[in-house]
Amino acid sequence: MPGPEALFDELYRDLILEYYRSPKNRGSLPQPTHRAEGLNPTCGDEITIEVKLDGNTIEELTFDGQGCSISQASAAMLGELVTGKPVDDALHIAHRFEDMVLRGEEPDPVIGDLEAFQGVAKFHARVKCATLAAKVLADCVESPVDAKAGG
Ligand code: ZN
Repeated sequence: MPGPEALFDELYRDLILEYYRSPKNRGSLPQPTHRAEGLNPTCGDEITIEVKLDGNTIEELTFDGQGCSISQASAAMLGELVTGKPVDDALHIAHRFEDMVLRGEEPDPVIGDLEAFQGVAKFHARVKCATLAAKVLADCVESPVDAKAGG
């Protein structure tokens, strides 16, 4: 399957590789309020997202996982973009990103640097890599961590 070298022009490729190599939000939270994980078996991508909600706002977010640069860089980028935002805004960003990658729509300005993944829309095999983080984020805000479990 083609990697970012083949899919993206130089500017976007560098941006994606920078997020892939040096994500600022990779790890886990000491006290997440919500957590979800997801898999893209066709590529072997795995992503876990943890958030700490303050009321209805994403106060903190981390992701962890493994897989190709497209899956991991999109998780890092989406995570940065939605941190500090209300859940509704975060989901709106995730859905607009999916509209671009899944349906080939023009990038909405709300998705910021995620515009870099526009080229993925042309490569069906990589669409699931790019949208995995958006899917896990949507699951995550609906999946409260049970404070009694695991401790
Ligand atoms: Zn992948």
